[in-house]
Amino acid sequence: MLLSAYLKTHQEIEAIRRSALLVSEVLARVAEAIRPGIPTAQLDQLAEETILSYGAKPAFKGYNGFPATLCISVNEAVVHGIPGKYEIREGDIVSVDCGVVWEGWYGDAAYTFIVQGAENKKMELCRTTLESLEKCINFAGPGKTIGDVGHFIQKYVESRGYSVVRELVGHGLGRQLHEPPEVPNFGQPGKGPVLREGLVIAIEPMVNQGKRFVKTLSDNWTVVTADGLPSAHYEHTVAITEKGLTPLSSFSPVEKAICQNPYLLPVYG
Ligand code: MG
Ligand code: MG
Repeated sequence: MLLSAYLKTHQEIEAIRRSALLVSEVLARVAEAIRPGIPTAQLDQLAEETILSYGAKPAFKGYNGFPATLCISVNEAVVHGIPGKYEIREGDIVSVDCGVVWEGWYGDAAYTFIVQGAENKKMELCRTTLESLEKCINFAGPGKTIGDVGHFIQKYVESRGYSVVRELVGHGLGRQLHEPPEVPNFGQPGKGPVLREGLVIAIEPMVNQGKRFVKTLSDNWTVVTADGLPSAHYEHTVAITEKGLTPLSSFSPVEKAICQNPYLLPVYG
């Protein structure tokens, strides 16, 4: 696959960073607002207002007909949940995925929030999923391949008794929300395209507590686990630079907000 057409200059990477940091800011606003009883539609409205206030646009709204700014996927929902009347409950895990386009450049990130009262099993699922993403970013670098990335995440997750979703994958991004290459959360070492400097990808492990199989609900969007057990999802927009993998999105503002929200539990508790 010819990825050279998708390599970004330093200035272009900085433009994507601005978009990715706006996504981080949106996730932090959601982290401030989330509490038992709040309808997911209200979180979506808050996200849209935040994005528009910067002069940016939600990337997901209207994408293939998706009706909202955020994907909000609770408990057994893996990804692509549509915000609506559902009110957050104690003990939920709530995956919030956000994309923006700002001055022509896309950013994309996701975080799974743990609402107070969640059982330990859910917390461990979230911790393992977040660790798989963060450790993969530290492990990979220029010269490694997409297969190395997928293999790392798969091995990390499966060695702890969880499974990775295979039907949905990470992706390149920049001028478009989804560009080549695909970035699966499974793979074989040394296989697939080489991570070259200038490539920008979204790495997004989707990890199930039970089996890896998923199905799509009748709303034609929400992907849920086939066995009904919980699933978690974390995503960073990442640039490949001479230093290694550099996250362009940041969870720091998100985790700061979580610590100040009495209804949320930190992933690293
Ligand atoms: Mg995303
Ligand atoms: Mg993505």
